[in-house]
Amino acid sequence: MTRIAVNGAAGRMGRAVIEAASARDDFDVVVGFHVDDVDDIQGVPIFHADDLADGLAEHEPQVVIDFTVPESTLALADACVDAGVGMVVGTTGFDSGGMASLRSASQDVPVLKATNFSRGIQVLLRTIGEAVSALPDYDLELMETHHNQKIDAPSGTANTILETIQEERDVEPVYGREGHAPRQEDEIGVFARRAGDIRGEHELVLAGNDEVVSLSHRAEDRGVFAAGALDAATWLAGKDPEWYSFGEVIDDT
Ligand code: NAD
Repeated sequence: MTRIAVNGAAGRMGRAVIEAASARDDFDVVVGFHVDDVDDIQGVPIFHADDLADGLAEHEPQVVIDFTVPESTLALADACVDAGVGMVVGTTGFDSGGMASLRSASQDVPVLKATNFSRGIQVLLRTIGEAVSALPDYDLELMETHHNQKIDAPSGTANTILETIQEERDVEPVYGREGHAPRQEDEIGVFARRAGDIRGEHELVLAGNDEVVSLSHRAEDRGVFAAGALDAATWLAGKDPEWYSFGEVIDDT
């Protein structure tokens, strides 16, 4: 039984995590945190985000799962370091200073951060690395689509795809095109669409040599991210302080 807490408990992903954990018998969601006053969600006691230390001390989770905003994640990191609690971070949109702060927390507690907790995306990332390496002269274009409430653009997953490509090839991202904008040889167009309640779609197109390869992924329900975050929490509980990736969870489970 893994004792978890959920930060951003009343958000879209927070609720999905609580729902997914409730349907399994290997998790105990002992506490949640939220910015607005909420008494409980599906029987889980909710503390205000200002009372992180109290909630962690009173309910003693092994791991906190966080899907919020960077500012909240960083406040949580301070509280987790003080309380000795591990972190599974799904929040995206950190600047370089935020990433540095989060990484420094991993010197004191185990931290696992992923821009996407779907297993399919992890496989896609590996496939993309292989395809870009095998087709070095092909033009690359990256598209992502998310729901109309998403704050950061391009998505954290699109940025991870871009980093994966840049490990293989020196490409410069161009974020959308307008006006006189002929394609340069070493550029990759990156496009973010926002509409409706789309859970998350990513597509990389590789084109050249009279052919087009399209590698894509579509999340059909937030449950896929919740399931991955829960798997990560079980895997992380009891680990030494370090910076971990979801790829390591996939390799092990
Ligand atoms: P959301 O807006 O529905 O939920 C975020 C919640 O965090 C909100 O309810 C907000 O009130 C709450 N919040 C804000 N400040 C807080 C604070 N200080 N303390 C506690 N809660 C606070 O958004 P969402 O769709 O659930 O997404 C949240 C984050 O997770 C985003 O960064 C998104 O990109 C990311 N995300 C990641 C994955 C993944 O697999 N890694 C999947 C989906 C979403």
